Amino acid sequence: MSADVLAANTRRVRDGREFRGKTCLIWTGSADSKGAPRYWDSSVYEEGARNSGHINVRRWVVAQVCDLADDEVAVVMCGNSLCLERDHLQRLTKAQAANRRNVKRRKEYAAEEIVEAIRAIIPPNYTENAGDIMKIHEILWGTPHPDKENQ
Ligand SMILES: [Zn+2]
Repeated sequence: MSADVLAANTRRVRDGREFRGKTCLIWTGSADSKGAPRYWDSSVYEEGARNSGHINVRRWVVAQVCDLADDEVAVVMCGNSLCLERDHLQRLTKAQAANRRNVKRRKEYAAEEIVEAIRAIIPPNYTENAGDIMKIHEILWGTPHPDKENQ
């Protein structure tokens, strides 16, 4: 793995959404089973060794600017698993990364529950009803709609 390999296998997103002031730098090479950038480097291959020769490119990018301990991982923060923009990657301990995944999962679960609750109020053939808007207000904000309180 080298800076030349990185440059040859990435493309900068043009006119895309910025994260931390920069657009994503997308890996165009192969990916591992989790969708993370992976590079085959024959110079580090050892016959019989597990996962030998495979470079975790995200980890490699972070390791160019800071040391990564065995219990530390390079995590992509922009939500794009193929992104290798240095400012979109962050060094975390495995415990911090696991905690971040759990928080993300809880937020996704809460979002799904909200969507389900709103779908129950507004079916596909919905026609407008002011009382329903008040119910949605309660779901979103956890408090009765001001108009309802004043009745
Ligand atoms: Zn990114």
